Amino acid sequence: MPELRTSQHFIGGRWVEPASGEYFESTNPATRQALYRAARGNAADIERAVAAAKKAFEDPGWRDLSQTRRGHLLRRLGDLIAANSEELAHMETEDNGKLLREMRGQLTTLPEYYYYYAGLADKIHGDFIPTSDRQVLNYTAREPLGVIGAITPWNSPLTLTSSKLAPALCAGNTVVIKPSEYTSATVLKLAELALEAGFPPGAVNVVTGFGAEAGQALVDHRDLAKISFTGSTATGSRIAAATASRFIGSTLELGGKSPNIVFEDANIPNAARGVVAGIFAAAGQTCIAGSRVFAHRSVYDELLERVSERAKSIRIGDPLDETTELGPLAFEGQRDKVAGYVDLGRSEGARVLVGGHPADGGLGGYFYEPTILVDVDNSMRVVREEIFGPVLAIMPFDTEEEVVRLANDTEYGLAAGVWTSNLSRAHRMAARLDAGTVWVNTYRAMAPMSPRQGFKASGVGVEHGTETVKEYTRLKSIWINTSEEPVADPFTMRS
Ligand code: NAD
Repeated sequence: MPELRTSQHFIGGRWVEPASGEYFESTNPATRQALYRAARGNAADIERAVAAAKKAFEDPGWRDLSQTRRGHLLRRLGDLIAANSEELAHMETEDNGKLLREMRGQLTTLPEYYYYYAGLADKIHGDFIPTSDRQVLNYTAREPLGVIGAITPWNSPLTLTSSKLAPALCAGNTVVIKPSEYTSATVLKLAELALEAGFPPGAVNVVTGFGAEAGQALVDHRDLAKISFTGSTATGSRIAAATASRFIGSTLELGGKSPNIVFEDANIPNAARGVVAGIFAAAGQTCIAGSRVFAHRSVYDELLERVSERAKSIRIGDPLDETTELGPLAFEGQRDKVAGYVDLGRSEGARVLVGGHPADGGLGGYFYEPTILVDVDNSMRVVREEIFGPVLAIMPFDTEEEVVRLANDTEYGLAAGVWTSNLSRAHRMAARLDAGTVWVNTYRAMAPMSPRQGFKASGVGVEHGTETVKEYTRLKSIWINTSEEPVADPFTMRS
């Protein structure tokens, strides 16, 4: 057996051994084979990384760099991602089991994240504020925050890291990233590319390791200006409490249990394709998964038949094979969690219409069959809790009023889909659904220029678009007295 490749932390522009000297294995979930050994980060590594990021932030070379030049660096990083896209796509597919065809698609748009924020870099500015006192000038300035801690999950490491990294750098911050312990490889490569693009050493640092060790140490570090987190609602809630107690900001992108609603006037073949894409793409391991489908009773049977037929014909197998449609779950624990939820559904009275078993994909990996649960309702845990796997719960409804109530009856509020040919209904539903993103006659559309926000337990703060850049800056108000006259009355406030 050839010895496994070992990866280290990326701190201050260099590869750095973990302080503990310890490493952990990352496995290819399609084959269960060990891929590489990643550095097991702890508080000492986080200390070094935050110090490197702080030094880089305070260095006049970065602090005084023109905003236009910052834009150039982001553009170069986008170009380098494009130039390395095949390598990045393969790395991520092997690390988390995502289909290579999906990764190739993601890599086509990923450079756009950097191009978009490259274009915004020189458009970050304050305002002139006209107050009633003509003698006094008031203007605002948008300043970078400092060192940003970015903590990311395993389901789309490159894209979800870029949603934080590009705007954070655009606004002039420096960053310490703690990627998921299951998927360190592409995030490390991204940091290396940032250095190659010309970002100074320390602008982008990566400490790999576990949440309870490296992640918690990052959250607890006193020199952080903000945490930007994507992951589960449970971890997000802990991070929100920790950051609130220190009065620093956090952007939290959390879980979901999104409704996908099919009305009787919808194009049913299209809606069926949208339902399949919503839950079976990426083996259901997306925060925006349309895991609850509500179909109008008059089209319920037809929709169910179409979705079931397609689910049964989904090709499970090697994610590197371009014809595969469903890859593995990202790790053994996730496969077991999905299996556990389907068993729970059975015990709650749900009927498994399609799937319902682990599979090995011909490779011995952590696969699970596309699964459809019927005879379900909103009181069941399988309908209320995020499963994060290829498991769909489908329910009939009778009226628009009823489906709005059912769709909104969840602690989450990330996304929702509506399938209808009635324009008025489309707008009505978009207004009434309690979700940060509403898709009508499509599902899973996303772009770096379009803001997204989770409502309720799905998150706090905005990612993508121009809004997010504001969340990586602080707003300073500056008052200049232009008068040479003595202050008339020191006990009266000027405005
Ligand atoms: P997770 O919360 O277990 O882990 C996410 C990250 O947090 C990992 O890097 C992990 O190591 C770290 N972490 C864990 N405990 C920590 C702690 N105590 N302190 C600091 N860091 C800690 O989530 P996951 O299982 O990796 O990801 C799946 C979840 O992510 C799902 O709930 C999914 O819905 C959510 N997600 C949300 C979005 C979104 O945009 N809303 C996108 C993708 C995924």
